[in-house]
Amino acid sequence: MVTRDDCLERDAQDPLRDYRQRFVLPDGLIYFDGNSLGALPHGVETSVGFHVQQAWGQDLITSWNKHKWFELPLTIGEKIGRIIGAGTGNTVVGDTISVNLFKVLTAALAKRPDRKIILTDIGNFPSDLYVAQGLLKFLGEGYELRSVAPEEVLASVIEDIAVVMLTDVDYRTSRRHNMKEITAASHAHGCLTIWDLSHSAGAVPVDLLGCNVDFAVGCTYKYLNGGPGAPGFVFVHPRHHDDAAPALVGWWGHVEPFAFDPVWRPAPSIARFQCGTQAVLSVVALDAALEVWSELDLLQLHAKSKALCGLFIDLVESHCAHYGLALAGPRQMAQRGSHVSFSCPEGYAVMQALIAHKVIGDFRAPDLIRFGFAPLYNSFTDVYDAVSILSLVLKDRLWDTPDFRSRKAVT
Ligand SMILES: *Cc1c(COP(=O)(O)O)cnc(C)c1O
Repeated sequence: MVTRDDCLERDAQDPLRDYRQRFVLPDGLIYFDGNSLGALPHGVETSVGFHVQQAWGQDLITSWNKHKWFELPLTIGEKIGRIIGAGTGNTVVGDTISVNLFKVLTAALAKRPDRKIILTDIGNFPSDLYVAQGLLKFLGEGYELRSVAPEEVLASVIEDIAVVMLTDVDYRTSRRHNMKEITAASHAHGCLTIWDLSHSAGAVPVDLLGCNVDFAVGCTYKYLNGGPGAPGFVFVHPRHHDDAAPALVGWWGHVEPFAFDPVWRPAPSIARFQCGTQAVLSVVALDAALEVWSELDLLQLHAKSKALCGLFIDLVESHCAHYGLALAGPRQMAQRGSHVSFSCPEGYAVMQALIAHKVIGDFRAPDLIRFGFAPLYNSFTDVYDAVSILSLVLKDRLWDTPDFRSRKAVT
């Protein structure tokens, strides 16, 4: 049986242990929600302060040139590109995940005008499904969003499908798709692929070019710690740069934005996937947050993610048996992302009780308690302590109060 001392020892041996100091984390809090809102890296506040006081306050409009505000979405795109195996010049930051998904979905459909089906899986994140539904309703007759069980995706890839649109790591179960295999099968049938990396970027190794992916979108406020509402990113394979025609375009994607041309002429690069002016203060916060990633060994990061998740699963299953908890998703670490969910009777109230005891995770309907492990700042001792508190909450029914049962707006 693993003891707390074993965990202290594992933390002492952890090659990433020093990264924790680079984040602002309240004392005594165990934060297992970096998959929903990553912790605040030191340095972000100073950088945002500078861009408010000096750049905006003093340099005003000249900051677009002087502080390179205009180029930031592309320069930050390069930093993210390294984390997702995107090569150079293929990633740009801006807008939201949902909006970026609309852009790449329309660009992909435009490349397959004789096909009318988007294939996805039933567990995909609702906003991804809604974006597709909204678009298909607009396009009208004959279009279809075909949702199949995650394990049936591969067998469902057939000639009629225009686009295979999937999320790599399932937000509930943590199950990963086989990106390489599904992308290859899609191409063999003439379908294009869109991968949502929201729960992957910064958590698990991704190799977009190696998998020959056509389009990808992803999130920067989860494992990349860009802050609440931080902009999304878009990846487009270079073979689509010259002729991709997203339906949502704007002056930032024009070949010469400051020519103020009345007719849209697309930039011959990833820049065409930009739309309009970005939320600069969020963009500069993200830029500062990504500083942490410049020298990081991504394989070490993944090794620690798997170790944290594995320890958590083992401890929950040995300390919290008898309370009806059941692991969601596959058991093999290589087939999972960096969060772990258990279905749990009264899961909502259990999570509220945990939060009251300073262990922050979240709840996902209908019955999942979910814990995200950010290898940069979560420790093995955090995992041990959190499971001790969880087992106490279950054993003493600390969750069983009207307060903990009443649902808040955000779960
Ligand atoms: C977090 C997440 C989103 C959120 O999209 P926003 O447009 O940023 O609100 C979308 N898709 C997936 C798969 C996510 O995990």
